[in-house]
Amino acid sequence: MFTPHAPTPDPAALTALCHALGERAEATAHAGPWQSGAFDLLARADVLAGFVPAADGGAGATEHAILGALVAIASRCLTTALALTQWAAGCRIICGGSDDVRAAWLPALAAGTRTVTVGIAQLSTSRRHLGTPALTAHLADNAWRLSGLCPWVTGADTVDAIVTGAVRDDGQPMFFIVPTDRPGLVIAPPMELLALSGSRTSSVAFADVSPAALVEPQATGGVRTAGLATTALALGSTRAALRLLQSEAMARATLAPVVDALEAETQAAEARLQHAVAALTEDRDRLRADANGLVIRAAQAALTAAKGAGFVAGHPAERLLREAHFYLVWSCPQTVAGITLCELSQRGM
Ligand SMILES: Cc1cc2nc3c(=O)[nH]c(=O)nc-3n(C[C@H](O)[C@H](O)[C@H](O)COP(=O)(O)OP(=O)(O)OC[C@H]3O[C@@H](n4cnc5c(N)ncnc54)[C@H](O)[C@@H]3O)c2cc1C
Repeated sequence: MFTPHAPTPDPAALTALCHALGERAEATAHAGPWQSGAFDLLARADVLAGFVPAADGGAGATEHAILGALVAIASRCLTTALALTQWAAGCRIICGGSDDVRAAWLPALAAGTRTVTVGIAQLSTSRRHLGTPALTAHLADNAWRLSGLCPWVTGADTVDAIVTGAVRDDGQPMFFIVPTDRPGLVIAPPMELLALSGSRTSSVAFADVSPAALVEPQATGGVRTAGLATTALALGSTRAALRLLQSEAMARATLAPVVDALEAETQAAEARLQHAVAALTEDRDRLRADANGLVIRAAQAALTAAKGAGFVAGHPAERLLREAHFYLVWSCPQTVAGITLCELSQRGM
């Protein structure tokens, strides 16, 4: 799928993967990408390897190529794309670990023989207003112990380990790798969500849990939200809505200008996404907020074109509209939420 230094994934391999993910999308939406075989497809197509440096047993894809692949995967199956992004966030943190930690985890993650997810929202976008850390890390007898709650963990009841973030007694955040079979760790049943229930997202309670390893935040670039991957997924969902709109436009010439306008806006946003990889001048929060607005408008246009038939449960238009609202809440920092709320209230920025 990925060639080192190449700015795009192999087009034929990506098309074949997306086709296979699309065929499983219905099963994935219900059972989750791990049970439906979608996650195995990612491993076999070397998508997982692309996120891992070559020196750690991966394929070391460029960020340009990874973002291109994420847009395409999200356009075919958002549940799989979400699981992949959370896996990748965990993987990125592990990449900042010691040589021993990297050797223990990264080759197996690249091959897909071990799976991880991430639960770090409590350090960035969840429960921050409460004033006390949701998850704490305490050093006793030279061993770390974690206590509290990780409110959001995609795939928690399925993966081998959770990469989480907890606050030490001195207020500093730390990252930990916690195998899901550790004593004291209680995974709640997956939440019933507006969309993406197949992501098997749960809260996870920690009662004096001993992690397998720790990773210093400085080595990982710290806690990140609204990374470019989240924008890539929003543009992938936009592409899915555009595809539906295009199929409706085949029989209705009046829809052609709508398709053309949204296509031009999507292409411009995709160009900004690729530009943002290297350009510090690109405002990533503004880009994410723009992508959030675009994905909802594209899904609304698809529903409008599909009319009442699109409003019936099970039609792709109603699913895309529900999924488009995911971006309003997922990995959405205050700055992005602020831009969105200003636009929704038509208040000047
Ligand atoms: C499908 C899905 C999957 C996700 N998967 C993951 C994952 O795998 N890993 C991960 O780390 N995260 C994940 N997230 C979490 C996500 O990125 C956000 O952190 C989360 O959506 C934030 O919502 P919250 O309700 O926890 O926020 P909170 O800020 O805790 O808000 C909860 C409630 O508190 C109140 N409130 C909020 N702010 C204030 C305030 N300033 N003053 C007073 N009251 C306030 C509001 O009533 C609000 O409803 C996922 C989210 C979704 C929807």
